[in-house]
Amino acid sequence: MKKNLSFLYVGFLLIGMLFLAACGTNETKDSSENNGSESEGNSESAEKKVLQVGTEATFAPFEYMEKGEIVGFDADLLKAVMKEAGLDYEFKNVGWEAMLASVQGEDLDFGVAGITINDKRKESYDFSVPYFQSTHVIVFNEGENITSAADLEGIKVGVQTGTTGADAAEKVLGENNKNISKYETQALAFMALKNGDVSAVVTDNVVAAEYVKNNPDAGVEMITDEASFESEYYGFMFPKGSEYKEEISEALATVIDNGTYQEIYKEWFGNDADIDALKKAAE
Ligand code: GLN
Repeated sequence: MKKNLSFLYVGFLLIGMLFLAACGTNETKDSSENNGSESEGNSESAEKKVLQVGTEATFAPFEYMEKGEIVGFDADLLKAVMKEAGLDYEFKNVGWEAMLASVQGEDLDFGVAGITINDKRKESYDFSVPYFQSTHVIVFNEGENITSAADLEGIKVGVQTGTTGADAAEKVLGENNKNISKYETQALAFMALKNGDVSAVVTDNVVAAEYVKNNPDAGVEMITDEASFESEYYGFMFPKGSEYKEEISEALATVIDNGTYQEIYKEWFGNDADIDALKKAAE
């Protein structure tokens, strides 16, 4: 009996030692892993993260290329907002659809490209507070008899693919209407108008006005149709659940509040922004 007990005792002791040894190995393994990630973590926080911001730079006056640089109202606003937030960033011209996909896939931290905030997009993205009011207009070749959106019926209409301008044209003419041609960029849609591939373009009012102003020889006119085209707002667009949305949106709200936005607005548009309307839209 006594013998049996001591056997049991030795047995337990052995099992205990094995257990401790196993723990020991685990511990060393764990701590070396921890050390590894800790030092990585340290070097990461020492080098400040550079946020990747995407755009599509054929959307003057909001973003366009000038001497190899992305310039425009959005570029200046983004600069002021990131200064306010104390964050480093890189502004990259990646293209419209690539930007939408990369923000959703979190390959970009956010997008700034005159992007309209709407319910459909809110299902897949988070947005900052609104920063610019927009609506749609029709730009058309002189001589076309267009006085309202209904006059788009039966003529060739160009839009930029995946935009609210495309949605607006489809709302009037019906989804997948064969007369609607979709282009990769806004610039290509205007080019199609110039070439005569389409007779009208539906796009954002301020971008259309800039095009008309910059192309006095293009022979184009523009009209709006308040009954057919809704008012919408631009916002910075983030991946759903983005850890940066809150602080960047707050910085944007501050910039709108403290006069910086007004200064940038005046520089680009020559008049005063309706700050109260913007703030109301943010509520
Ligand atoms: N505001 C429009 C949209 O969000 C167009 C933006 C753009 O083409 N850059 O769809």
